[in-house]
Amino acid sequence: MEEMILRLLSARRGHFVLESGDHGNLWLDVESLFLRPAALLPIAHELARRLASHRVEAVVGPLVGGAFVAQMVASELGLVFAFAERRAGANGVTYAIPDALHSALRDRTVAIVDDAINAGSATRATHAALVTLGARPVAVGALLVLGETALPAFAANGLTVEAIARVANELWEPAACPMCAAGAPISSPLASP
Ligand SMILES: [Zn+2]
Repeated sequence: MEEMILRLLSARRGHFVLESGDHGNLWLDVESLFLRPAALLPIAHELARRLASHRVEAVVGPLVGGAFVAQMVASELGLVFAFAERRAGANGVTYAIPDALHSALRDRTVAIVDDAINAGSATRATHAALVTLGARPVAVGALLVLGETALPAFAANGLTVEAIARVANELWEPAACPMCAAGAPISSPLASP
């Protein structure tokens, strides 16, 4: 199933310049996950099965990709679904859950579901929004967790992580990149695998 996800993500190994300017050895095309919902369904089913053991009452995902997966999981388990919206403000990026959905989440045990978690900023911001409105997040579900950057913050908040796939994700500043040091050419993200 891990391979199935990486195929749906068009995951490729190479020498990439990432949006942040760092160099990395993995390229993912997260949007392509949602091209074929029927292919994603068995993976969402497995994630739902794992999250069911946490006895959650609602599933919440950050827009865009996280909410698509969260909705599949909620549907599978017959639970309440809600989404968090990204808001860029003076204090940086936050995620907010629409007011109309708050009463359905208050005092509920909740799983936060995301597509791919790297630094985990969207997941953590969704967690903060849930705690603020009085919900009880207990688990994080993801199709893919990249590296381990996000894990300490989840553990500190008492969140158990259920991930279908876990992939090492190494990033370097260009000056420290071992692939540059070895003279490896930069790969094009658009090249065919
Ligand atoms: Zn490099």
